[in-house]
Amino acid sequence: MESNLGQYKKKRNFKKTSEPLGGIKKSRDKLFVVQEHHASNLHYDVRLQIKGVLKSWAVPKGPPESCKDKKLAIPTEDHPLEYANFEGKISEGQYGAGQVYIWDKGTYKNLRKEKESISMEESYKQGKIEIDFQGSKLKGAYALAKIKNKNLWLLIKMK
Ligand code: MN
Repeated sequence: MESNLGQYKKKRNFKKTSEPLGGIKKSRDKLFVVQEHHASNLHYDVRLQIKGVLKSWAVPKGPPESCKDKKLAIPTEDHPLEYANFEGKISEGQYGAGQVYIWDKGTYKNLRKEKESISMEESYKQGKIEIDFQGSKLKGAYALAKIKNKNLWLLIKMK
């Protein structure tokens, strides 16, 4: 799977942005973070630790509150694990300029591991992720499902 930070680094000038450069390779807990990002369009960045990086999606409308609504999740470049702690202002002229707040952060459990012995890496490749969020705002089972033949995913709250 693609999990290098080339795109992330290419888009940013680390002399001009306070965002982390990256370096941590491993962490025991599987982290997730949701960042409220006041860029040109307000969106929520949902990031899941998979294999040493944060796999990322921009969710324009934020995580779903009920099982009835599905929210569009647009995949974005891998981010370094340290990004889970990032909060602050990305300066004008930089990629994603605007304020970033941590909306929620915590750990998650891979539900498909228990049911089918499928790793997060494999789930990502298949475009079918099922996890249990253990955050302060996000709690319980959610799915991220890739739309067939499109580079778009849906974030779904499971029953
Ligand atoms: Mn963003």
